[in-house]
Amino acid sequence: MLTVSIPPEVQRVLRKALKIAGSNECGGVLMGEHMGPGHFVVRQLTVQGGGRFASFIRETRSAMRALSSYFSLSGHNYVRFNYLGEWHSHPSFSVQPSVTDHQSMLEIVMDARVGANFVVLLVFKLSFQNELEGSAHTYIPDGSFAASTLVFEGDL
Ligand SMILES: [Zn+2]
Repeated sequence: MLTVSIPPEVQRVLRKALKIAGSNECGGVLMGEHMGPGHFVVRQLTVQGGGRFASFIRETRSAMRALSSYFSLSGHNYVRFNYLGEWHSHPSFSVQPSVTDHQSMLEIVMDARVGANFVVLLVFKLSFQNELEGSAHTYIPDGSFAASTLVFEGDL
């Protein structure tokens, strides 16, 4: 079972992106740090807006640019810092992934060019109180997936 933590500074980026997108979906790529067995922290994410999830994952060009600048910052420490997966928002419905979301993530993790051992999908929304709500799922190349634990790290 995997645990994915969201530090306060990343929560602020997400809250702002969700607020700006309003009733539109937004999303992007997650870059994570491997903290220990089964525990990853989201250190950086890209924000793309205005479209459905399927369109975000086709916008790989700008995402890959963000990834390569992230890897130069982290000294190409690919073992510790790596592509973790994808995120997007469900502004007006449940944060549980849709059937299409599951299929899109399985396509990514089963794509040999991605070469991932697993990928994570995070889905977020803002509650009426402007609080972040979310879900985490992990997909593996054998075509299975499981719910994971999403932790919002305490703010200061
Ligand atoms: Zn979705």
